[in-house]
Amino acid sequence: MKKTFSALLTSTLISINCLASTEPANVILIIGDGMDDQQITIARNYLKGAQGSLSLDQMPVRGAVQVLTVHNDDPDKPMYVADSANSATSLATGVITSRTRISTTAKTDQDIPTIIELAQQAGLKTGIVSTASVTDATPAAFVAHVSRRFCENPSMMVDGLIHGHFPVDCKDDVKAAGGLGSIAEQIADSDVDVVLGGGYKHFDMAAEAETKTVLERAKDNGFQLLTQASQLNQAPSDKKLLGLFSPSTMPIKLRGENGRIAEQPKKSWLNYIYKYLGSITNPEPMICEANPDFEAVPTLAAMTSTAIKYLDNDKGFFLMIESASIDKASHARNPCGSIGELDQLNEALDYALAFAEKSPNTLVMVTADHGQAAQMIPEVSMFADPAFGSFPAASPGVMARVKTPEGSIMGINYATNESIAEEHTGVNVAIFANEVGRTLIKPMQTQPDIFTISAKHLGLK
Ligand code: MG
Ligand code: ZN
Repeated sequence: MKKTFSALLTSTLISINCLASTEPANVILIIGDGMDDQQITIARNYLKGAQGSLSLDQMPVRGAVQVLTVHNDDPDKPMYVADSANSATSLATGVITSRTRISTTAKTDQDIPTIIELAQQAGLKTGIVSTASVTDATPAAFVAHVSRRFCENPSMMVDGLIHGHFPVDCKDDVKAAGGLGSIAEQIADSDVDVVLGGGYKHFDMAAEAETKTVLERAKDNGFQLLTQASQLNQAPSDKKLLGLFSPSTMPIKLRGENGRIAEQPKKSWLNYIYKYLGSITNPEPMICEANPDFEAVPTLAAMTSTAIKYLDNDKGFFLMIESASIDKASHARNPCGSIGELDQLNEALDYALAFAEKSPNTLVMVTADHGQAAQMIPEVSMFADPAFGSFPAASPGVMARVKTPEGSIMGINYATNESIAEEHTGVNVAIFANEVGRTLIKPMQTQPDIFTISAKHLGLK
């Protein structure tokens, strides 16, 4: 009797194990670049209304993430504001590094294994999808190792110029010096199964010391090149996919009315003389409109759905999806650009969650790499209200007044500096997960913890 019960228990356990092993563990990590709570709130107000809710907001698990950075010269010393290179390195490798580094250690410049490399070694499939160039810092940190994020293609490795002006040097990373080459070359040489985004121009040039282009190297390494949205549904299933749908960053979905971005409030001459006198004229309100250039490229959701379809397999996969231009539009003081990009992130998330419904061991996480400049402020200063004293107050920096579909106006200010581009902020960011993340995500964790959570869920060491 006892023996029979034991045998029954054993066979039950075996069948539970068999059931578990038929469900592959997958991780879909969605990164909203610069998507702090200011950006999420601004987008929610515009897209769903102040009382509405984005797909993000409906995810059952939510926590906060500390963004960690160190000084390159003194890695024991924290730096409080991150860039996308060091923060993506934390997420991809679990190691805190210094700004502009792509999965290399601060000071000692050692390559750090990434979650994608570890997943590949374990026989899992891997993919990266981005609305930036696939060589941009966020996707690059999951695939490549280089001391400077700007070394995106062979022409930038030695005596390169950022924006055609500022020198950059990755001479230790050239293949001739025993390095892995530029980010584009490392992607071309990689075993990543799906790479989709922008960045054609970085592949369309001779590889280091070769007559072949980086693109030809990628094809020799088994990649099928896609350049049109229509090709996403016809791609061969027996090849790796390299989709490069624009020369660099893909066009954004929304833009300000007639291309407007944030503008400087104007002070009357009396207000210049004394702060309690005169008046302030804020920028005229604007709506967000469709960006006509967006029609030429696939949506983030379309790229996400193709990537998931290609990666779905018996052994599991790791997929990183980046919504890049929440950050890029915010650098450019373009609130409508960030709103449209966050809309794209939510549509891509819907695909990921629908897949996770069918493949229930899929951990879907959404987070940001760092805070960004945009800040929601009163569209007309509170102090102009008689209840507060009725005196003029101008927002520093530049501001936009965005008319929302629910008929109100949202004030958005950018004031991190007065130069050509805004800067990041050092705030912690949110993380959202589906039910699979219930026991994995804590109320507060660090960015390297997200690497550990991903590796643990995939069964990687
Ligand atoms: Mg990025
Ligand atoms: Zn940025």
